[in-house]
Amino acid sequence: MLTILYRGPLSSCDYDCAYCPFAKRRDSPERLRADRAALERFTGWVRERDFEVSVLFTPWGEGLVRSWYRRALVELSWLPNVAKVAIQTNLSCRTDWLAEASDRAALWVTYHPTQVPYERFLAKVGSLPVRHSVGIVGDPAHLPHARRLREDLPPETYLWVNAEEGRLYTDAEAADWAAIDPHFHHSRFPHPSLGLPCRTGDTVISVNGDGMVRRCHFVPEVLGNLYDGSYRPALRPRACPATACDCHIGYVHLEPLGLYDLFAGGVLERIPF
Ligand code: SF4
Ligand code: SF4
Repeated sequence: MLTILYRGPLSSCDYDCAYCPFAKRRDSPERLRADRAALERFTGWVRERDFEVSVLFTPWGEGLVRSWYRRALVELSWLPNVAKVAIQTNLSCRTDWLAEASDRAALWVTYHPTQVPYERFLAKVGSLPVRHSVGIVGDPAHLPHARRLREDLPPETYLWVNAEEGRLYTDAEAADWAAIDPHFHHSRFPHPSLGLPCRTGDTVISVNGDGMVRRCHFVPEVLGNLYDGSYRPALRPRACPATACDCHIGYVHLEPLGLYDLFAGGVLERIPF
């Protein structure tokens, strides 16, 4: 099976989070058209494969406010060669359309407390007909919201906490977050990764809108192109060339961490076994 992290040209969002470069950014009509065409080309490619594929859409900004991402999620979820299709989302979109997806669709939902009324967010999560995790950025101002959310979500819904970029947590602060997310220690510090085996570049790849294939979103070297097949001979077990890996969508594939065991069956949507 090949796992693909897809990120097209889209780089706009309807939310205005203080910690994000894509806050309230707008895409030009040309960029939106290009993003749609790139996504449709990608889904067409997936449809024609004779091997199993899993996909995580990791757009800069928010994808599900665009019809083409909603359509891609539903369509891919029904393809016989697609094991899983998931997307990172702020869940600002309507959710009724998800009833049309198969049980192979999943959501990686992030709660942004300054952007959406709590009750509205909770009700929306509660109505989701597909597998999902819910998460929050570990900003101290978010702590009461995270605690409330943990209380109100069903116990079986995993609530993850992402360490805030650049923030150093005292042990006491980390303990507060770990009481909400028992796996917070994986996010607290960047993982030293240089020279360690990582599944990216072998069974996991990153693809952009032009079909350029890289091992992951964080290593710029290009392995080839998806659409001319030139990436395939480059796939092999590889060591990480970066000093550290500090994003879940990267280090979940770092072999020594053993996170495929922890997230068995839910690696892409971040749901522990
Ligand atoms: S919802 Fe996500 S992409 Fe949008 S502004 Fe907030 S952090 Fe950025
Ligand atoms: S450990 Fe992280 S940065 Fe290194 S290759 Fe894997 S995903 Fe990329």
